[in-house]
Amino acid sequence: MKKIGVLTSGGDAPGMNAAIRAVVRKGIYHDIEVYGIYNGFQGLMDGKIEKMELGTVGDMIQRGGTMLYSARCEEFKTDAGQNQGIEQLKKFGIEGLIVIGGDGSFQGASKLTAKGYPCIGVPGTIDNDIPGTDFTIGFDTALNTIIESVDKIRDTATSHERTYVIEVMGRDAGDLALWAGLANGAESVIIPERDEPFDSVVERLKRGHNRGKKHSIIMLAEGVGSGIDYGKRIEEETSLETRVTVLGHIQRGGRPTGFDRVLASRLAGKAVDLLRKGEAGKMVGIQNNELVHHDIVDILNKPHELDMKLYQLMSELSI
Ligand code: ATP
Repeated sequence: MKKIGVLTSGGDAPGMNAAIRAVVRKGIYHDIEVYGIYNGFQGLMDGKIEKMELGTVGDMIQRGGTMLYSARCEEFKTDAGQNQGIEQLKKFGIEGLIVIGGDGSFQGASKLTAKGYPCIGVPGTIDNDIPGTDFTIGFDTALNTIIESVDKIRDTATSHERTYVIEVMGRDAGDLALWAGLANGAESVIIPERDEPFDSVVERLKRGHNRGKKHSIIMLAEGVGSGIDYGKRIEEETSLETRVTVLGHIQRGGRPTGFDRVLASRLAGKAVDLLRKGEAGKMVGIQNNELVHHDIVDILNKPHELDMKLYQLMSELSI
């Protein structure tokens, strides 16, 4: 393989730049030309494709977001859209494509592979909701952003003796809420994967309050619904002064952590190696600190699994 392409698609995630950088540098190391495709699958269809050099990805490893930009593109879900994308790749002589993104983006990659065009997926999303990998690029940075924010909220929560409901991202997955709940010492974690009865949340809050606790934190994943509604319910039920913070897109930005930079470099390097070996339709991942790869189709058919041992520990620590 002498020419490969790389694109980022779906929600951006800190560490995507480190992944793009690794694809470019690893490619060039192996005498492969690397082409950047701008604006995800939309840009692929429109032919927004440029050759990348060593210098193109200089001063990028520490930046959040994605230098190739991202997009959501409905038209790419159609046969015609995918064919148009393949035509563009062929026009540039690009023989294989690395897609950095979430499960939606992998759908696109698997469609191209089914049409005979080799693609490799690299999991990049803050949600950590992709099966077949313990971590996705961006999760650790987003987690640390939440931790830092909640540390600050905790100061004011204590000063005013308030209960705080913190709504965090994660789409349908509770990973960010669970990990942040554990790291921030939350009283409760409300996630889509577990049906935590409202009564037991209230009971735990009251118990803490009676014990003299100055504040309480409830970490709520966006996948279960509105934090604002949940906060209202808590205040009505407990009479404890309650505030809600929806952290929002702050969680998607910022400098990637060391963990995410290393993860991104490893996963992207592995993706280049797979294309070099003639593999197609695979997703790279990390499991038990080993680089692995799986068929994208299998990944798309599997549900995301939350670490239930972590959830159990969380419950035991927040008595
Ligand atoms: P995140 O989880 O961070 O939002 P994602 O990759 O899951 O990332 P999506 O918006 O679901 O984000 O998908 C990104 C893009 O992938 C879509 O806008 C579309 O262009 C393409 N895509 C999604 N599903 C399909 C599909 N079934 N067939 C072809 N392309 C698809």
